[in-house]
Amino acid sequence: MRRTRNAKIVATLGPASSDRDTVRRLFLAGVDVFRLNFSHGSADDHRARFAILRELERETGRPIGILADLQGPKLRVGTFRDGPVQLAEGQAFRLDLDPAPGDAQRAGLPHPEIFAALVPGAELLLDDGRLRLVVERCGADFAETRVAVGGKLSERKGVNVPGVVLPITALTAKDRRDLALALELGADWIALSFVQRPEDVAEARALIGGRAAIVSKLEKPSAVERLDEIVELSDAIMVARGDLGVELPAERVPGIQKRIVRACRRLGRPVIVATQMLESMVEAPVPTRAEASDVATAIYDGADAVMLSAESASGKHPVEAVDMMNRIIQEVEADPLYRQLIDASHSAATTDRGAADTADAVCCAMRRTVSLLRAAAIVCYTSSGHTSLRAARERPESPILSLTPSLAAARRLALAWGVHSVHAEDAADEHRMSEIACAAARREGFAEAGQTIVAIAGVPFGTPGTTNLLRIATV
Ligand code: PGA
Ligand code: MN
Repeated sequence: MRRTRNAKIVATLGPASSDRDTVRRLFLAGVDVFRLNFSHGSADDHRARFAILRELERETGRPIGILADLQGPKLRVGTFRDGPVQLAEGQAFRLDLDPAPGDAQRAGLPHPEIFAALVPGAELLLDDGRLRLVVERCGADFAETRVAVGGKLSERKGVNVPGVVLPITALTAKDRRDLALALELGADWIALSFVQRPEDVAEARALIGGRAAIVSKLEKPSAVERLDEIVELSDAIMVARGDLGVELPAERVPGIQKRIVRACRRLGRPVIVATQMLESMVEAPVPTRAEASDVATAIYDGADAVMLSAESASGKHPVEAVDMMNRIIQEVEADPLYRQLIDASHSAATTDRGAADTADAVCCAMRRTVSLLRAAAIVCYTSSGHTSLRAARERPESPILSLTPSLAAARRLALAWGVHSVHAEDAADEHRMSEIACAAARREGFAEAGQTIVAIAGVPFGTPGTTNLLRIATV
């Protein structure tokens, strides 16, 4: 089974989409990577979803990526004595560490780290940015604020502190429990929410220890300021536009999205554009024209993947949303302008900051070669997945058929642009390499007899980081 597009689709499972039949229909409609959102659902829910996905993988013979998205340090206000309160513009409102239920004058905010980091003039955004408070006076356990934008505030609503780097790690106690479960179940990707600095990624990597790859979610201005360092330390990036658009004015999100996609393409890290892509399909069977255009823009920019959240997790039309994304991607990729834009935004591998390695050199030659020969496919032997990711970084004109003996690498590559990932035996020796590549290209529906393929590999086989061979073969 082969998909006829380069960009990938990530879809979130939730109450609207967790039965066996719907998961299967989502996969058939085009989902490459399934996201399990650990902000919602019980351990048993996640366990059941894993079981369904791995069974589907066995049944279809196609590696499926599973991304476990950790909630991260999402800050929340406490409870209220008599239900939701109404805050009026200009009034005073106090936040403190007192666990007593709040009222229209004060509320608990059970996060000492926030008070430690606040300064007068700092802004607090409540309930996805609907309410805005400005700090006037603060101490180790309280903040006296003035309401700049008022409204209704109910218990447990989220709090964002945009301008401040909080002295908290990216992993809470809940995240550590969820991470242990996700790793036990065999997640391929772990997404870290509210990454603030490169050290957060390093800390998570030390805990994960190679058992899964890391997606850093960019949703804090402080992370955007250190974009290149975070991209470099991560295995993939998510442009988490939901919280990013709360932490920053909405008009800044499109430009930042383009900057992030560009930085990820330069360093060869898969990048996912996420949140509200087809939001109106939560209710309606068709998207707005603006949403169709939003998905198309991410594809024209060369993003590896586009993501569905509520649309597939809790919406009324999960399968239709995937089908719509699939059609938009195919339409864009068939447009001659797409290739022009992808080429124009490509940055050649360079020796700055030690970025280029032998895989880049081979992949650079591969890109030119497939274009000159109009090759039917690129067959990429990879043990860790590195060679296939470097091949994808080139955004070549021919599809990448990636062969790896590692099931973990095969699953992770489900996220990468243009990669059709197959779990297969290693080529064992250089002489059989062309033969196996041609057979695989034929079997997977990439080439017919007489067509040209380009194979890349590292010799000796099975040693990561040795990519040093390019071979042209006729099927
Ligand atoms: P979330 O992350 O859905 O877990 O909040 C994505 C985003 O903020 O856009
Ligand atoms: Mn978020």
